[in-house]
Amino acid sequence: MEWWKQYGRNFPWREEFLSEYELIIAEILLQRTKAETIANYYMFFLNSYPGWESLAAANENDLATLLRPIGLYNQRAKRIFALAKSMEQRDFIIPQDRESIDKIPFMGQYIANAVELLILNRAKPLLDVNMARVLERYFGPRQKADIRYDPYLQSLAHDILKGVNAKEINWAILDFAALICQSKKPKCSICSLSESCRYYKNNKI
Ligand code: SF4
Repeated sequence: MEWWKQYGRNFPWREEFLSEYELIIAEILLQRTKAETIANYYMFFLNSYPGWESLAAANENDLATLLRPIGLYNQRAKRIFALAKSMEQRDFIIPQDRESIDKIPFMGQYIANAVELLILNRAKPLLDVNMARVLERYFGPRQKADIRYDPYLQSLAHDILKGVNAKEINWAILDFAALICQSKKPKCSICSLSESCRYYKNNKI
C-alpha cells in the first residue's frame, strides 16, 4: 500500500461518484485488455452509450463496430448487449445478493466480484491473471488451472483484503502486477516485497 500511494495509476474508472453503469462497463472493457488501452477509449464509449437504456436500444453490429479499436469486438458486443438487455428486464436495478447477480447473463465471477466490491462495498477480490501471478509468485503456486475454481488462490485473494480498504488493495495489486511484478520480467531488484517473496528466493533474478 505504501508503494501504491506513491506509484499507483490514475484511471477515469477509479474516480469517485461514477454510476453503476460506468463502473460495470469499465470492468467489462478491461477484461483481457491493457488498462492503458481502455483509458484512451473509455470516455469515447460512454459518450456513445451513456447508460443502460441507450445500450439496450443499440444495434449489436453497431456496438461491435464501436468496440473494434480495442479488439475482441464481436465477443464484447455480444456480452455487453446481452447484459444491457438483461438489465432492461430488471428495470436497470442491480440485485443486492450474489445469487441474483450470478444469474445475470455473461456476468462471470470477475465482474460479479467487481459489482460487489465497487458498487455494494463488499470485500471481494478482482482476481484475474495479473493478481493471480503476484499471489502465486509471492505465496506459492495454484492447485487448479482455472483461477475461478482454485480454492488456494481464492482463499489467498480474500485473505489479503482483511483489515484494509478492499478497493485500494485490489487496485494496488493490479498496479503492482502491471508495473513491478510483470509477467515476463518481474522487477525484483526494485520490489519492496523481494525479501519475503518465495519466487525471488527461489530464482534470485
Ligand atoms: Fe514479484 Fe519479484 Fe516482487 Fe516477488 S520479488 S513480488 S516476483 S517483483
